[in-house]
Amino acid sequence: MPGPGEFQIIRDYFATAPQGPGVLLGIGDDCALLQAPQNTILATSVDTLVADVHFPAQADPAKIAARALRVNLSDLAAMNATPLWFTLALILPHSDALWLQQFSQGLLETAAEFSISLVGGDTTKGPLSITIQVTGSCAHTSKPLRRDGAKVGDHVFVSNSLGAAAAALPFVLGQKTTDNKQLQQAQSAYYLPQPQFALAEVIAPFASSAIDISDGLIADLTHICTASGVSAELTVEKIPVAVLARQLNTNHALQLAASGGDDYQLCFTIAEQHLPLLIKKQLPVTCIGQLVAGKGNVHCSLNGKPWRTQQTGFQHF
Ligand code: ADP
Ligand code: MG
Repeated sequence: MPGPGEFQIIRDYFATAPQGPGVLLGIGDDCALLQAPQNTILATSVDTLVADVHFPAQADPAKIAARALRVNLSDLAAMNATPLWFTLALILPHSDALWLQQFSQGLLETAAEFSISLVGGDTTKGPLSITIQVTGSCAHTSKPLRRDGAKVGDHVFVSNSLGAAAAALPFVLGQKTTDNKQLQQAQSAYYLPQPQFALAEVIAPFASSAIDISDGLIADLTHICTASGVSAELTVEKIPVAVLARQLNTNHALQLAASGGDDYQLCFTIAEQHLPLLIKKQLPVTCIGQLVAGKGNVHCSLNGKPWRTQQTGFQHF
């Protein structure tokens, strides 16, 4: 049975998206018309997820959609921006009503959870790929969290724990097997990263820089260092390793926490003078190093000895 056509896809699965604040005209015209909240700066970002590069083509469509939106939301969180609107460019190999129903349900449930409205998109035929562009707002009175503000002497922190998503990947891809409970935990770690909005809001007034960890801690801390013109000394034994990473890959959990991607935790820096304030707030964050003079390098040590990761962060080319 042939699936729905292009315009039926848009009408049945996406045009029904609820339109939140600021949407003067949503899906259906040549452009959406959007009203930014007063006294705000807009933050915008786009990410593409390609089948069999960023997710298995056969994966649960609802999970693919949830992950696609969450990784984009994580970029907003990393700047301390509040979600407003997003667009979706969907490339499908064929029209499949069940796939579309599950995909749009996963997408719109995630959108509701994070109060972001789908306001437009594009639907075309080709190899499965999902591009989402998000827009958020930063109040003039709040400080966006940028990569380029870190200074020599600042302390380096990460949120929660790292390594779970990278340890989960071989299970998500079906290359390794485990019991049902752990498989579910692995799926959650990989498909349902938690954009760190609440934490970003708390640290924004006194953090000097921040980034969300998508490519791996060392790679993303290197981005902060390069943008800020400093280097970092990273104390590897201080990295908070996710319990799931230890359970799924006991031998390489530390490696995965140091350089595995896809956790979407925050890495941020803070001047010495603000440390007491941060400690007082009892946030789920861990100090893992300090910035030194240098040209964008991350020097790692484990128990006082130089340490090299066996992996580098993910790069497409
Ligand atoms: P145009 O040809 O003018 O670019 P389209 O026919 O591509 O318009 O799209 C019609 C309307 O549907 C537009 O408002 C567009 O933003 C929206 N749209 C198309 N595909 C999607 C999608 N996958 N999700 C949400 N909105 C979509
Ligand atoms: Mg179009």
